[in-house]
Amino acid sequence: MKVLVADKCGFCFGVEHAIDLAQKMLAEGRNVYCLGPLIHNQQVVDRLIDQGLRVVNRLDEIPQPGENPPAQDTKRPTVLIRSHGCRPEVQQEVKERGFEIADATCVLVKRAQKLVEQLHRQGYQVVVVGDPDHPETQGVIGYAPKVTVVAREDDIKKLPPSGRLAVISQTTLSGEDFHRLVGLIARRGFEELKVVNTICRETTRRQLSAIELCRKVEVMFVLGARHSANTRELAQLCRRNGAQTYHLQNWQEFKPRYMEGKTTAGVTAGASTPDWIIREFVENLQHQ
Ligand code: SF4
Repeated sequence: MKVLVADKCGFCFGVEHAIDLAQKMLAEGRNVYCLGPLIHNQQVVDRLIDQGLRVVNRLDEIPQPGENPPAQDTKRPTVLIRSHGCRPEVQQEVKERGFEIADATCVLVKRAQKLVEQLHRQGYQVVVVGDPDHPETQGVIGYAPKVTVVAREDDIKKLPPSGRLAVISQTTLSGEDFHRLVGLIARRGFEELKVVNTICRETTRRQLSAIELCRKVEVMFVLGARHSANTRELAQLCRRNGAQTYHLQNWQEFKPRYMEGKTTAGVTAGASTPDWIIREFVENLQHQ
């Protein structure tokens, strides 16, 4: 089987930085809690849990130093903020509870957060094009009051009828979706419409490289967690570009029927998919 791998795929620098920071702090013996899974990949998160990371959903689940019997709980907890970032009031609460903060918010997500703050100060009604349930969007909209999230065409009805509007994007959105929704917003005829494309360049590179690969193969495999936004976008993009596409988490989900009658396959992976999952998949697929 001929297997081609996308030029750009797998871990992005934001995810790598978050994992490196977690590993460094755990190696130092610090008492590290992550608010939500560190990245959208359970196997990587499980490895970090084995090294001592604890994952909580709320800050009140973290015991105060000395509150719980295990020895490590006597150390001051450190709350690790994921690359998706969080709302400013969460960081404030971490401080108020007396915990330390290790901020792994990706620099490109930070840029989007700052933009929301600035644009609001400049008098714009701020709009984020993205998934309202994604942790990055939930964090970004916390940087100004009354930010509107537009995920689909129907949401445009929620926008005010007139005024000065500023639109940014979730970092992992596809350029196609962003431009389409911005085009529809522009038709509403606002007095002023400012658009800042905050899709991250790592996402764009992965998307362009996947599109290029779609043209050369008979079937595409997109590796990554089901709930990883950028992996789902990659899979949809491959489908829209005419490739028969399977979104799988790892080799264990592969079925031989996916390759029946085919001789060339392409492999790409989302920004939270580690190299070893990609390598294992490619090696096994080559032997089909
Ligand atoms: S996908 Fe882009 S914005 Fe998100 S963590 Fe990676 S580099 Fe940062």
